[in-house]
Amino acid sequence: MQDIWAGSRAGGFSNMDRMLKGRGVVVTGSTSGIGLGIARALAGAGANVMLNGFGDAGEIERLRSALAAECDVRAAWHGADLSKPSQVRELIAAATGELGAVDILVNNAGIQHTAPLESFDDERWDAVLAVNLSAGFHAIKAVLPGMRARDWGRIVNIASTHGLVASVEKSAYVAAKHGVLGLTKVVALETARTGVTCNAICPGWVLTPLVQKQIDERARRDGITAEQAKGALLAEKQPSGEFASPGEIGSLCVYLCSDAARQIRGAALPVDGGWLAQ
Ligand code: NAD
Repeated sequence: MQDIWAGSRAGGFSNMDRMLKGRGVVVTGSTSGIGLGIARALAGAGANVMLNGFGDAGEIERLRSALAAECDVRAAWHGADLSKPSQVRELIAAATGELGAVDILVNNAGIQHTAPLESFDDERWDAVLAVNLSAGFHAIKAVLPGMRARDWGRIVNIASTHGLVASVEKSAYVAAKHGVLGLTKVVALETARTGVTCNAICPGWVLTPLVQKQIDERARRDGITAEQAKGALLAEKQPSGEFASPGEIGSLCVYLCSDAARQIRGAALPVDGGWLAQ
């Protein structure tokens, strides 16, 4: 069983004061990786959480019940496929029903596909744009009326360093993540005089299944071990030489949900070991 606390304690930000007690949260793509780290951090701060994402039903139920028990919050799960706008709306409706309101929305679900542009599959392009970019638009559209009515809300979009710079063979992903930052700024401006904020987090390399797939592909391509491929991946982009952890992303998310972060609006905040400083 995946250790849902792995990395969460390494964030260095105390979320023990339960400052989000009673808030309703949706974290998309939270059955794995960064989304799970964010769900754990927000639940640790007292928020009730609607999980979303794919995976083995028994494993997801174990994650859900562990989160609820360890953090003493309500936790639910909805299996919406976010590539389908109607299912995004169903997820928000279900979360509103389960948790009373969606006060915090974290658009995290994402997929990757790598190929040179000339051979980039059309359907993969559409899928990457649908999950990484359009799902966020549909979810924000669904939660904003309620947030405006209560004059409080936090929207956090998980973009990427690839929202600000590019890499080869990632046309759809880089286009989608640049789009996420544009969407973030527009929502921030449209809500600027309200208690709703919208920001983006730009992680560098975080060791999750999404990145493990790229490590394995690189190892195969270059005839090296997975460990060597991991080192090469970091050396190429991330000056710290270390992966960021899901818990560190979660800690920043908790901070963005605090009242102290009220004037952070439309920002793109890197957690990237120095990637973007180069
Ligand atoms: P992951 O593969 O570990 O998790 C992705 C999650 O999204 C899973 O829960 C999966 O079930 C869910 N998901 C995928 N397609 C979905 C769909 N159609 N509908 C609903 N859920 C779906 O990936 P991760 O590395 O944790 O990535 C999370 C986010 O962070 C993504 O937006 C990714 O682009 C971004 N990101 C990751 C890294 C990294 O290094 N891992 C770096 C920068 C940005």
